[in-house]
Amino acid sequence: MADKIKGKGVISGIAVGNILLAGQNLDSFLVNYKPGKVDAEKKKAADALVKVAEALQVSIKKFNEQGLKEQAGILEAHRMMVEDPAMSGAIDEQIDVSKSAPKAVLDAYEVQAQVFEAMEDEYFRGRAVDMRDVGKRIAKYLLGIKEPEIAGKVIVAGREIEPSVIAGLPTDKIAGVILGAGSTTAHAVIIAKTRAIPTVVGVGDGIDQMADGDPAILDGDAGEILIRPTDKERKAYDEKIKKQEELKAYYATLKTLPAKTKDGKEVILAANIGSPADVDAANGFGAHGVGLFRSEFVFMGKSDVPKEEDQFKEYKAAVEKCNGNLCVIRTMDIGGDKPLPYIQVDKEENPFLGYRAIRISLQRKDLFMPQLKAILRAGKYGKAAIMFPMVINVKEFLDAKQFVEDAKMELAHEGKEFAQDVQVGIMVETPAAAVMAPQLAKYVDFFSIGTNDLVQYTLAVDRGNAQISYLYNHFNPAVLRLIKRTIESANKEGKWAGMCGEMASDPNAAILLMAMGIKELSMSAPSIPRVKERIRNFTFTRAQEILKEVMDMEDGDKIKEYLANLKA
Ligand code: PEP
Ligand code: MG
Repeated sequence: MADKIKGKGVISGIAVGNILLAGQNLDSFLVNYKPGKVDAEKKKAADALVKVAEALQVSIKKFNEQGLKEQAGILEAHRMMVEDPAMSGAIDEQIDVSKSAPKAVLDAYEVQAQVFEAMEDEYFRGRAVDMRDVGKRIAKYLLGIKEPEIAGKVIVAGREIEPSVIAGLPTDKIAGVILGAGSTTAHAVIIAKTRAIPTVVGVGDGIDQMADGDPAILDGDAGEILIRPTDKERKAYDEKIKKQEELKAYYATLKTLPAKTKDGKEVILAANIGSPADVDAANGFGAHGVGLFRSEFVFMGKSDVPKEEDQFKEYKAAVEKCNGNLCVIRTMDIGGDKPLPYIQVDKEENPFLGYRAIRISLQRKDLFMPQLKAILRAGKYGKAAIMFPMVINVKEFLDAKQFVEDAKMELAHEGKEFAQDVQVGIMVETPAAAVMAPQLAKYVDFFSIGTNDLVQYTLAVDRGNAQISYLYNHFNPAVLRLIKRTIESANKEGKWAGMCGEMASDPNAAILLMAMGIKELSMSAPSIPRVKERIRNFTFTRAQEILKEVMDMEDGDKIKEYLANLKA
């Protein structure tokens, strides 16, 4: 019998693969490491380089024999980074300043990673991740941590997983994701959603029952993981996997059909993305443009502020890929919980209520202006919109809007081409913005409701806390009232309201939102077919009746249950 671990399924589908433990923190190993004299440490480091290169060579051969050319190619590049003579010199220099061999290796590769990150060429910049990976691999060898030999598909597991871990692995290699934390809106999960990778969160200490390389089956619908399944257990999943393939084929038939009710009410279904490449995947699911480009991904993993030119290239690529549909680019939502080396944030008691998002942008012209200019320039290549996160009052919006006007002036001065007609709107993700929606609606071009944060701030329920996740419900009447108010306020002023929080991907929520007058729902692209199917099977008239009933109900859980049992 396999070990069975329960969690919360957040991205549906069955995944079969070998466990890859991610986000392993080496700190405790480093503390326990007993360094020898300088020469001894240098010798240990030199031996480690040889041994790691040999181990990589064995894996490269294996991948080549299996025809896995791409994996072999990646490891070949890693082998060259290990054997680079400049690196052994750099490691020795670190040991000379009293560092242990593993720490010296980590630091030497980190320095090199930062050099790569600063390069103009995108390919070389991407190599920074590999450099860090290689440094960690050698350090692990020195610390006696076994490196797993994993071929084929992996299920990435960790108490917490850095978004870059998921983003850094090739899509065809990740079968599933397991997160110890309870968050359904962790950025690792958000990336997994974009790629439709079956995911289970909130397994807590269940992570300790897994070892690198363990074969596993993950059921993203049941929220279950089987570690080391027997042949019999594996066979039992064959039928489910077959059904999954059939459903995928059916959803593909919906791709070009509009999200229109039987009585003719249409809603735009757009995608949430983290990089221009995500737009290609989104188009494959029938997305009509981008409702949220989380631009912080452009800022993450860099040692310095990304230049206007670099940002411009990314935004332009995303805008172009939208094929004439709107591409809403949110200005960076960085802060205490998502730190960056070039933004000084003191330790905060409550980072979610701290120095973040628009609060940073308004104080840091050096960050804000290049971003606004890059978006305005990208607007020339299609249809772009600027969206500010975490706005709480009219003044913040007007101040930010002034920056947009200044950015236009600067661009005009510099003789650079840009779009004059870029829409400027806000995320409604704080209760303050929702309450003030009638006033804000006078100034903005649009609202996009960010329920991930709106729910947490309205209900005072941390979006990542598994223990109280039963309270985190977007159908809570308090939340529904704020959403309804926001949508109605926009419509009253002739502006449009959309939604880009996770609620938008809930087909039952789509019914209510449509009746409230929402114009656009933006979600992780793989959810688009499910939402579209629900809308196409409904009438707008029926949706309005349902909304009326729901707004008379007092309990969020009952509303959820009522909607789950609805017939069209
Ligand atoms: C939200 O808060 O709903 C949202 C879309 O933003 P993020 O998840 O990036 O905080
Ligand atoms: Mg948010």
